[in-house]
Amino acid sequence: MIIRELSLVIFFLAGDAAGLANGVTGEGIYAAILSGKEIAYKIINPDYNLKELKKMVKVKKMQESALTLLKHNKTAVKVILFIVKKLIKNKFIRSKVIILSSKI
Ligand SMILES: Cc1cc2nc3c(=O)[nH]c(=O)nc-3n(C[C@H](O)[C@H](O)[C@H](O)COP(=O)(O)OP(=O)(O)OC[C@H]3O[C@@H](n4cnc5c(N)ncnc54)[C@H](O)[C@@H]3O)c2cc1C
Repeated sequence: MIIRELSLVIFFLAGDAAGLANGVTGEGIYAAILSGKEIAYKIINPDYNLKELKKMVKVKKMQESALTLLKHNKTAVKVILFIVKKLIKNKFIRSKVIILSSKI
């Protein structure tokens, strides 16, 4: 008689397979490397809380929510463009941007 045991199969998805490519920038190499590294830590130590991966997913979700909002809300786009135009015209802001960009 063949007895089949029920076994719990745990598997991990990383990178594009986990849907981690950024929907806004299209970048996915960093997410693929980071998720691979985090999964390795998790396999070594099951108590590891995947903190870097969670942080990255949080940022990705925020960016994608903002993009969705902008896609469906032309008024929000107009308001943001208006604010950006005002900021660019502001001498103080312009000087700060120049200082920041010279440091990069
Ligand atoms: C045109 C283009 C430009 C991009 N430019 C950028 C960029 O500038 N910067 C950036 O950060 N990201 C960019 N990306 C996204 C980035 O390439 C991916 O997010 C990243 O490569 C994902 O890595 P991954 O390891 O998850 O998947 P992949 O790199 O796709 O690796 C998966 C591997 O698994 C293999 N495979 C699939 N099925 C099987 C199977 N059944 N058995 C065995 N092997 C299998 C595949 O052949 C592949 O080698 C770009 C993507 C594209 C398409």
